[in-house]
Amino acid sequence: MQTKLKVHTLQSALKKERNAGKSIGFVPTMGALHKGHISLINAANNKTDITVCSIFVNPTQFNDPNDLKKYPRTLSVDAALLKDAECDYLFYPGVNDIYPSAIDTSVDIDLQGLDTRMEGAFRPGHFEGVVQVVNRLLKIVSPDYLFMGQKDFQQFTIIQHMINELNWHTKLEVCPILREPNGLAMSSRNERLDPELRRKASIIFQTLSDLDKKKNTFSVPEMITYAMNKMDIPGFNPEYLDIIDGNTLEPIADMKNHDYVVVCTAVWAGNIRLIDNIIIKPATTNKSSVT
Ligand code: AMP
Repeated sequence: MQTKLKVHTLQSALKKERNAGKSIGFVPTMGALHKGHISLINAANNKTDITVCSIFVNPTQFNDPNDLKKYPRTLSVDAALLKDAECDYLFYPGVNDIYPSAIDTSVDIDLQGLDTRMEGAFRPGHFEGVVQVVNRLLKIVSPDYLFMGQKDFQQFTIIQHMINELNWHTKLEVCPILREPNGLAMSSRNERLDPELRRKASIIFQTLSDLDKKKNTFSVPEMITYAMNKMDIPGFNPEYLDIIDGNTLEPIADMKNHDYVVVCTAVWAGNIRLIDNIIIKPATTNKSSVT
């Protein structure tokens, strides 16, 4: 694996790969890698000839400076994990590489309200930052395929919208959520949970799975009430649980009127904010595939 590459060295290496007829898969991350990230590397290895992973803790998507400061940075462990996973290139840019003062990196597209609900409502400006960094990274890497996790449902929906709006040639592949043995969705933040909360955090996926079972007998408001009550246990504070149309991300009133339905939630476990989701009615026409 070629490691810690900067913009120009990465671009000239990828040019050679492309000239040799190789397809390129790209996995953007913020580091502190876990098995969920590695599953994206595996998906890229399976689909494309060359896998590029970036590690960049993007300042423009943090609305809380403290959260940015506390974000775990574990580069040497990450590099070893990527090497074991047979990633070909690790791109490790600095802030000035991604946002050089000479280049306008802003992205002027209408997100059509996809960014205002759920995560967007609680993290103002977050998705503008995500769109800005992913667009800039796509410009640098120019991959054939982009691999993202279903874990961040709203994020990949917005990135698919951006790809469509800006006519990117890159195809988005969405990969399933990897979970810890107790069902907790893997996340870099899980390391910061105390062991008791980490064990009890299984309540989140249990609740989502219950909703999947109850979807044919409960109304949407009954599902929401059931879930918010179930997750209201000592140490936990559910911030939102929305049952949404997977295309528009708007809350729905009745499952019957929608062909793609997802339950998305954010829950505080102590002072750690966890997100998770479950697709309870899969899209009939496949958009970005969950591979
Ligand atoms: P992050 O480093 O948190 O920005 O995540 C980088 C990518 O990994 C995003 O596309 C996430 O959706 C994906 N990801 C994070 N956690 C998981 C997980 N548990 N399973 C699968 N993919 C994940």
